[in-house]
Formats: sequence, structure tokens, C-alpha cells
Amino acid sequence: MEDSLYFSEQHLAVRNMVREFARGEVAPVAAELDAKAEFPWANVKKMGELGLLGIPWPEELGGAGLDLLSYMIVINEMAKIDASHAITISAHTTLGTSPIVNFGTAAQKKRYVPLLATGKVLGGFGLTEPSAGSDAASTRSTAVRKGSHYVLNGSKIFITHGGVGEIFIVTAVTEPGAGTKGISSFIVTKESSDLDKTKRLGIGHDDSLTSMRGFTSGKKEDKLGWRASDTRSLVFEDVEVPAENLLGEEGEGFNNFMRTLDSGRVGIAALSLGIAEGAFEHSLRYSTLRKQFGQRISSFQGIQFQLADIATEIEAGKHLMFHAAWMAQNKQPFSKQAAIAKLYCSELAMRTTIKAIQIHGGYGYTKEYPVERMFRDAKICEIGEGTSEIQRLVIARNLLKELAD
Ligand SMILES: Cc1cc2nc3c(=O)[nH]c(=O)nc-3n(C[C@H](O)[C@H](O)[C@H](O)COP(=O)(O)OP(=O)(O)OC[C@H]3O[C@@H](n4cnc5c(N)ncnc54)[C@H](O)[C@@H]3O)c2cc1C
Repeated sequence: MEDSLYFSEQHLAVRNMVREFARGEVAPVAAELDAKAEFPWANVKKMGELGLLGIPWPEELGGAGLDLLSYMIVINEMAKIDASHAITISAHTTLGTSPIVNFGTAAQKKRYVPLLATGKVLGGFGLTEPSAGSDAASTRSTAVRKGSHYVLNGSKIFITHGGVGEIFIVTAVTEPGAGTKGISSFIVTKESSDLDKTKRLGIGHDDSLTSMRGFTSGKKEDKLGWRASDTRSLVFEDVEVPAENLLGEEGEGFNNFMRTLDSGRVGIAALSLGIAEGAFEHSLRYSTLRKQFGQRISSFQGIQFQLADIATEIEAGKHLMFHAAWMAQNKQPFSKQAAIAKLYCSELAMRTTIKAIQIHGGYGYTKEYPVERMFRDAKICEIGEGTSEIQRLVIARNLLKELAD
């Protein structure tokens, strides 16, 4: 899809810029950051300077003013090299910033979006709770209105940027017993857990943000993959959230989160596809270098067929992902397409990385080659922002609704 019908000259220029950055600045440090489970602060600063943390937001809000396809290209290109960097961009932009851009008041946008879009501070999104995962509607966190503020109590788990981030959008029940219509969302702020590093680098913290008393993050999760991404719980103990931090109307929180997740799923499709493409490129190259039985292994039909199958599936995945992004960009309903793209591309990333290790043989199982990291990074794509089973439910629900209509 080099000259895809989806891409303009500008899209190709964005792709080249990210490709150069990912290969030059991310590839040399990805394995070490993964091994140390270290958040890539230095590169986050550079990504902010390149405008990669606010790609689709208007320039007047500090963004790069580019379209959604450009944003998917950025995630996709970054994930070819390192999924942790790619999820940093995706979680920050779609989950942490888009709800404010899409549902915020003019004052909320002015207050928070420039800080996020320029990468000055990182954002996140807190929906998942200990007993509300796939069943996100069973949120137990509560927000009780008391005069000019809400008192927030509860906790969230597995939140990307839970520690390093300063601005979060979280859900809480404002009307118990009203089901999904009783859930609202709020903008909450705290200090980054890496304050010394952020101050040294001049990124990741803003003194003007209120550190809300009682809002804390838990210990960092020790994960299989996405190890350079920061995942933690968020805890709310009698946190006084000013009423002006209510995002959207009371009772709209759940629906708004579901809309945010539709976009998020296209992003995870782009990220998964990037992992598959990265693993494929390594495998193709390796197959032409490795010799066994006196020949390059690429001359064996058994290897050729595997490469041909992966290339075919990647091409299919690209069409699904860019089509879903195109529909979103053109304001068409895209919930089903987003779920299809996410389901297909995340499962493709798993299939491809397993084959990539096989093509690399024993070397693929070691840290000498990046395919084992890619394999570990791929698994979460079948879980985060809705598991594969939930994508199948969303697709089936849409199919049955279309039939009924
Ligand atoms: C690294 C990482 C980052 C994350 N980042 C965020 C974030 O930034 N913000 C956030 O809010 N959340 C985040 N999450 C949470 C993530 O979205 C959830 O883990 C995910 O939605 C699944 O929820 P769960 O873990 O509770 O699994 P469960 O819902 O308990 O699912 C367990 C199993 O049951 C299956 N299952 C559940 N219901 C059904 C059903 N109806 N039909 C068939 N099968 C079903 C699931 O598919 C799964 O296989 C993150 C998770 C991880 C691991």
C-alpha cells in the first residue's frame, strides 16, 4: 500500500518523518527499555517536540492539525519498531485527550488540551475497575455532588500512564441504580510519579495543575509486554473534584467512553498491524541471511509459504484498519469497522509474531532479535480496549441490528 488511495503527499511525509525518528531514536533503546521496564521519558520529550503527541488536534489547541489517517500512520509506523512507544502516543492521544476535545467545554479545552497536545504533560483514561473489566458498566466508583464539587471514591486498575500521567478522564456513578445512564466522567489531575525525572527533562509536569488531594496511583504493573509503558491502578479517597471538571453532562460518561473506545480500537488495530509488519520485515530479511543445508532458508518453499501468508494477511489488515480510519474521518458510523479491524489486526499480530519466531529458529527465542519482544507486545492487543471476545460481541450486535433495520 505504498501509493494507497487513502494517502496524500502529506500522509507520506508524516510517515517518513515518524519512520526516521523510530529507526533513529527508538530502535536503539527499545530492547533496553523493555528489559528495564523503563518509561521512555527522553523520547517522549522528542515526540512532543515533533508534534507526535497531538497529531489530530487543531493547531489553536497546540496540536499538529493533521487528520485521523495521519494519526493512524504515526501509531502504525512507531509500532513497527516498538509497541511501548506506540501505545504511549495512542493512550495519550485517543484515551487521554480526545474525550476533552470531543466532549469538553470551551474552558476545559483551553485549560487542558494545549498541555496534552504539546506533550507538556501526559494523559490517561480510567474506565477499568477490579470488578468492571469487559463489563465496564458495572463501575463501582462513585461521585457524589456536594455544593460546588463532587466527592470521588473508588479505584481503577490497569491504567496506561497511571503513574507518569497528570491529567485523567475517569468514570464514576453519579446516579446509583440508573445503569449506564447513571455514569458520568470527570477530568482529574495529580502529580506525575516521576517528578524528579520530569523536572530534569522539562517535560511531564505542569506546576499550574492542581494535585487533587486523595488521588493517588498504585505500584507499577510488572507486565509480559508493553514493558516500557506505565500501567498502574488509580485510587480515589474522598477526592474533591470541582463541578466544572464534569466532562459532558451528568449520565453521559459511559456513552462517551464507548465512543472514545471506537476510535481507540482503530488505534490498537494500527498498533497491532505495526507489530505484525515489524516482525514480518525482520523475518523476511533473516530468511535471506540464514543458511541451512547449504542454502538460504528463504529458498525453502516451507518458509516462502509462511512469508506469503503473512504478507497477504498484513495487506488485508491494512485495508481493514485504514478503511475504519477513513470512515471515522469522514464522520460515518464506524463502530463495527473499528471492532473488525481491531479483532483482525490484533489476532494477526499474534499469528505473525509466532511465525516470526519460528522463521528465526532458536535465535528468535532469544533477546538477540526483536521478534521475541514483538511476540510479547502483541498479546495485550487481544485484550486492551476490549478483548477479542468483546469485539466479536460488538460485531455480532451490529450485524443483528443491521438485519433488524
Ligand atoms: C497493559 C494494559 C493496559 C491497559 N490500559 C487501560 C487503560 O488505559 N484504561 C482502562 O480503562 N483500562 C485499561 N486496561 C484494561 C483493559 O481494557 C481490560 O483488561 C480489558 O478490557 C479486559 O478486562 P478484564 O481484564 O477485567 O478481563 P475480564 O473482563 O475479566 O475478561 C476475562 C475473560 O472473559 C472474557 N469475557 C468477558 N465477558 C465476556 C462475554 N460477555 N462473552 C465472552 N467472553 C467474555 C474476556 O474476553 C476474557 O477472555 C489495560 C489493561 C492492560 C493489561
